[in-house]
Amino acid sequence: MFHKHASRPYLIAGPCSAETEEQVLSVARELAPLGIDLFRAGVWKPRTRPGAFEGNGAAALPWLRRVKVETGLRVAIEVATANQVYEALKFGIDVLWIGARTTVNPFSVQEIADALRGADVPVLIKNPVNPDLELWVGAIERIRNAGVARVGAVHRGFSSYSKSKFRNAPYWEIPVELRRRMPELPLLCDNSHICGNRDDLLEVAQQALDLNYDGLMTEVHNAPDQAWSDAKQQITPLGYSDMTGRLIVRRETTDNVDFLENLEILRHKIDEVDLELFNLLARRMRLAEDIGRYKRRNNISILQTARWNEILEKAFKQGQERHLSSEFVEKFLSAVHQESITRQHAVMMQASTATSSG
Ligand code: PEP
Ligand code: MN
Repeated sequence: MFHKHASRPYLIAGPCSAETEEQVLSVARELAPLGIDLFRAGVWKPRTRPGAFEGNGAAALPWLRRVKVETGLRVAIEVATANQVYEALKFGIDVLWIGARTTVNPFSVQEIADALRGADVPVLIKNPVNPDLELWVGAIERIRNAGVARVGAVHRGFSSYSKSKFRNAPYWEIPVELRRRMPELPLLCDNSHICGNRDDLLEVAQQALDLNYDGLMTEVHNAPDQAWSDAKQQITPLGYSDMTGRLIVRRETTDNVDFLENLEILRHKIDEVDLELFNLLARRMRLAEDIGRYKRRNNISILQTARWNEILEKAFKQGQERHLSSEFVEKFLSAVHQESITRQHAVMMQASTATSSG
């Protein structure tokens, strides 16, 4: 399962929550003919606020067993405690996943890992809600250390304070770095929890495939608007069939010589530009140090909020004229500004040590 380098993505689909036996069976019956690989449904639902639908718990497990028998689909649920692992295994659940609110807590992950010892069940580990790669890696290690051989990662986006069109900011650089560090780990994208709405599901799924993800997890419901949880982001089986039908699966590489040569030329140009950027950044940092020395001599503090605002405003305008998004401009300049401050601080410290010792 979750074959690396498969010719098509591994598809997981099903409702956010198992609401009733009829609902679960109805979605599964419509998804089975579409050729999905795994049916998902939440049985224990970690909800942000109390009072929301928290799942049917163990009572829903026989419904999933019925899905298996009647449709032949393999089934997956989320587990968050040792007891939930035991219950799931007792009912023959084929794949377990650890939710984003659980991955953040090493005690919970360890408890699940200990409960999994000796069980031969594949486990998917969602990214933690906060953008912390180490916590994600740590959870993967804990589950692997318990002897679980088939482990995969699910990218479901990260909580962020700033408003964006996403419910959970994708921060693609985090899963990309996970992939660099664990190249053989299957990586799937939960486009539903990243988007939080129906409109952008295809776009996010396509982006994931273009980053060589191995599969997708998507929430599908027979009557999405009436769903007891995550109504806004769920789609009908028909909508799902439409989405997967539109996905373009590109290859990671080719032996077409022309293509490879042209790609090489373009990459060479990019390397040159990167070098130019580094030279410019080095020049900018030398200027920052000059300013640091000058401020030190005149007893002026490093951070000048008014000046920083001025730089940002000018940059947004200049960026816009050059088709650079304000999100990118802000991220880039913030990093440059932070490094400038570090350099100025270092210069000031040098100067003050020099004065006190001399
Ligand atoms: C879910 O898959 O329904 C879920 C609760 O997801 P997450 O853990 O990503 O929030
Ligand atoms: Mn959900």
